[in-house]
Amino acid sequence: MENVRKHAYKINGEENAYLALNDPFTDFNTVDELGYPSKLIFTSKAFIHFLQLIDQSHSSSSYSRSGVEEEKGCFFFGRELVEQFGKNCNTILIDSYSEDWKTTDSHILSGGSVDPNPTLSEVEHAVENLGYDCVIYFHIHPKKFHYDVFSTGDYLSFESVAKLDFMQNTSLLALLASPCRSTEKRNIYQFSCLYVQPFYNQDGKKDFHYYQFPHICYIEDEKVMEFGRFERRVAPSLSDNRRVPARHMIQGFGVDPNTGLNIQDKQIGTYRDGYFSFDEGYQYRRRRMR
Ligand SMILES: [Zn+2]
Repeated sequence: MENVRKHAYKINGEENAYLALNDPFTDFNTVDELGYPSKLIFTSKAFIHFLQLIDQSHSSSSYSRSGVEEEKGCFFFGRELVEQFGKNCNTILIDSYSEDWKTTDSHILSGGSVDPNPTLSEVEHAVENLGYDCVIYFHIHPKKFHYDVFSTGDYLSFESVAKLDFMQNTSLLALLASPCRSTEKRNIYQFSCLYVQPFYNQDGKKDFHYYQFPHICYIEDEKVMEFGRFERRVAPSLSDNRRVPARHMIQGFGVDPNTGLNIQDKQIGTYRDGYFSFDEGYQYRRRRMR
């Protein structure tokens, strides 16, 4: 599959910086296909913060001046579990995070758009002094007015972070929690995660490939839990002109909008005394490159 890039497209002849045509759930290869089964695992502490931010994003107290819910976000910091699983194992443990991002005005959301820039010094400190080798750019889209995938502005923002000098040997992942828009029911969130891989193009300039990082997990007691999945259905009127393939299972939480049942998370292993043990089918194994 072609590694589709972001496209700004024109509405009424005007370039629209916010709508990206690609779909992070299906348009990119997964890192798993490169040979490395992925897992992004939140420790209990980091997981609580992750849930708190999502909670805040739809509480009425966070309405912005434009009258819509504000975006929320922060950087999470993680380490690839090289000691246990080897280099490029794509198994990342997240145990720390930056200050929450403040919101700022943007063209589309007055007072409601996240601004990660003031926390970049924390990222630099985490990378240079604390030994973190994975930085996760996490944000949450509000329920109204914005849509369910990364915007073109988001991709530009990831790339400006990934180009910073101190990110030279550090992996950047972009994680989005977005409200499921196939239903009016509240509190159904879906997750998309992309690995932002730098490369140098023909002109010698830094450019980026994107890969899906499709397994978001968390630690609860000593269990490693993977977020459950549900079938993504996007009404054509909500697809923003993107091609949205049918019958694609995505990770999220809340009530499955198709069945009305709670989305069930799944235990995939254990975490004891600093060591992971994954169940059959979730173990790290180096696959042949295609
Ligand atoms: Zn965004």
